Amino acid sequence: MTRTPLVAGNWKMNGVPDSASELRAMIDALKGGGHCDVLVCPPFPLIGAFVGDAADSGVEIGAQDCHFNEKGAHTGDVSPALLAAIGASAVILGHSERRADHGEADALVKAKAQAALAAGLLPIICVGETEAQRDSGQAEATVLAQLDGSLPDDAGIVVAYEPVWAIGTGRVPENADIAAMHAAIRKAVVGRYGEAGQGIRLLYGGSVKPGNAAEIFAIDDVDGGLIGGASLKADDFLGIIRAA
Ligand code: PEP
Repeated sequence: MTRTPLVAGNWKMNGVPDSASELRAMIDALKGGGHCDVLVCPPFPLIGAFVGDAADSGVEIGAQDCHFNEKGAHTGDVSPALLAAIGASAVILGHSERRADHGEADALVKAKAQAALAAGLLPIICVGETEAQRDSGQAEATVLAQLDGSLPDDAGIVVAYEPVWAIGTGRVPENADIAAMHAAIRKAVVGRYGEAGQGIRLLYGGSVKPGNAAEIFAIDDVDGGLIGGASLKADDFLGIIRAA
C-alpha cells in the first residue's frame, strides 16, 4: 500500500506573529508542489493567521492539542470543532510533553482522538518510551501499551513514535531500533484496524535534522517525521521536507 509521507512541524510554545515570515518562506520554496504532505502546528493563537497565509499553498495547519468536548465549561481549553472551523486540519495528541506536563493518560488521549475525528481533524497520536524504559528492555511493551490505550475506534489517524529521550536532545535511536519499533507499531495497528492499518502513516520524531532525515525516512515503515526544533526555521524544515 502506498502511503504519502507526512512531515509535520511541532512549534511547541514558540513563535510570535512575526514568525509567519518563516511559514511564508517555506510556502514560497515549496511552490510547484512536492511529493509529501506538509503540516505546521503553531501555538493556538497563531493558527487562524497561519491558515490564511497557507491558503491554497498545499501546506496544512494544525494544532498541538484539543479538548475532548465540543464546547462547555473548560477554561483555557480549545475544542476540536473550533479548530476545524478556523481551518486547522490536524491535531497532535498525547505528545510526551503533554503527558508529562499535564498528566495526560492514554484514556484521555483516546477521548481527544475520538473527538478530533468527529470534528473532521486528523489526529497525530504520539507514543514513545523514556530512557529508563528503553534501558530496562521495556521500550516496545511501553509503546504497545500506549497504543492500546490511546488509539480511537477509527483508523483515520497518524501515529508518531517519539522516544522521549530523543526529543530535543540531539540523540537519535539506532536505525535498527527505529525499524524494530515501527514494525511493531505497524503490526499493532493492523491487528487493531485490519487492512486499514496498512494505510496509517507512522512518523518518527526526536532530533530529526536536515542532516539525518534522509537516512531515517528510508527506514521501512517510517512514513515521514514529526519535527520540533528544526521546524522553526524555514531552511531547516525545507531540508527535512526535501529528504522526505
Ligand atoms: C517533538 O517535540 O515532537 C520533537 C520531535 O522535537 P525535536 O525535533 O526538537 O526533537
